[in-house]
Amino acid sequence: MTQADVAAQEAHLRLLKAELLRPDGKEHAAYVVFGVSRIAADPFHGGSRLRLLIKDVLPVEPDEITSSDDQHITWKTDRFVRLLAEADRAGHQVGIAHSHPRGPARFSAQDDRNEADLARLARNRNGEAALMVSLLFCGGGEMVGRVWISPQDYIDLSVIRSTSSNWTFHRREGDLGSEDPAMDRQGLALGPAFNRTMKSLRIGVVGAGGTGSPLIQQLGRMGAGHLAIFDPDRVELSNLNRLYGATHADAVDGVKKVDVAKREIERMGLGTQVVTIDTWIGAPECRDVLKSMDLIFGCTDDHDGRVLLNRLAYYYLIPVIDLGLALRVAERHGERVLEGDGRVTVLEPGASCLICRRVVNPVIAAEEALRRNDPAEFERRKSEAYVRGEGNPAPAVVSFTTSVATMAIEELIQRLQQFRGPSGAIANRVRKFGQVEDFRPGAARQPCRVCGSPKTFGAGDVFPFLGRAG
Ligand SMILES: [Zn+2]
Ligand SMILES: [Zn+2]
Repeated sequence: MTQADVAAQEAHLRLLKAELLRPDGKEHAAYVVFGVSRIAADPFHGGSRLRLLIKDVLPVEPDEITSSDDQHITWKTDRFVRLLAEADRAGHQVGIAHSHPRGPARFSAQDDRNEADLARLARNRNGEAALMVSLLFCGGGEMVGRVWISPQDYIDLSVIRSTSSNWTFHRREGDLGSEDPAMDRQGLALGPAFNRTMKSLRIGVVGAGGTGSPLIQQLGRMGAGHLAIFDPDRVELSNLNRLYGATHADAVDGVKKVDVAKREIERMGLGTQVVTIDTWIGAPECRDVLKSMDLIFGCTDDHDGRVLLNRLAYYYLIPVIDLGLALRVAERHGERVLEGDGRVTVLEPGASCLICRRVVNPVIAAEEALRRNDPAEFERRKSEAYVRGEGNPAPAVVSFTTSVATMAIEELIQRLQQFRGPSGAIANRVRKFGQVEDFRPGAARQPCRVCGSPKTFGAGDVFPFLGRAG
């Protein structure tokens, strides 16, 4: 069965609440434009899913309203038809939002009739694939919604989620499940709602190596309900100094890193469902899995993989928490010193991307893509010194890799629970291990087309995927 949910930037939800729940106590309405993410097979239940991504909010103006009071609203639909034409050209969908200032948090028989008419209008204008989304905001703070997939049939939204400095998830009642006694102490610190959210979230972890492995271990201990772990590599002897759960026998047998991670999470017995993917994340078979996530941790050293996650965060409104660690052995006044930088960067609309922060190098990303797609050409260019080789292995120590993973988890807790206070979110945090200090560097330049343009925010499915050629 198809499931449906809505993802929004915090600013759009705030605007909808301000427009629809006004001090006059009357019902109000707005049009909402959505990008679409169609998922053929969800990695956890195998069913199809629809994700609607809010792109724009357009309040219904007073001169369009034909009548309204605290129990009803009717308005002219001329603008709906114009918006349908624009949406058809842009590959978007149009929906409506209205309010029940005094409740109830469910659609009325009148809503059913009006919305079925709009769904028919959308289908007649834009064809079979046209959807009609409807959101309902109530005075008590409840928020529900549904997607009409035909004039006769709709799907209730399972979640309305919003991202930005605080991440919120409005779920339909009955989806929450019971308390797990294993999470009691965590609940004492962060509240029972935090535990329920951890259980419900779909969390992607790209990279199960140095920083990914301690991160995955912590997510399992925190009662994460659904983990999708991506890594094409196998355990080697040189990984055993930092890979949690990996054994000497795993290295000798060349066990996949994702299989070690899954084995260790399942041994905890805390009910986490784990899906593993052992191909590079740019492979087409990874798309549905990535698109199904609520948030993703980027724990990869691969520049091209980072470039992909970087775009995914903005196109699909899926926040990405990207981790990096750089250890260097340097000489200072004749002394050998270890310089270490740990970095945690959150990617989402409103925050600068990894290109603008100069974290990823597009030239290296292109070389990695060439090595993967055309190894012979890569070797030829390497022999002529047009591209660089794989370089020396990077230094790595388990305490530093674990520390960066913990910084990333702390940022997740902040976004869900605000333990540092309402303005405690940190978009970019760098820990200088040698100085025992954390810094918050800004972006290096003007925002680029990916992180600086509302056109990409919530664009959803476009061709080519994420607007990337090749
Ligand atoms: Zn209504
Ligand atoms: Zn950017």
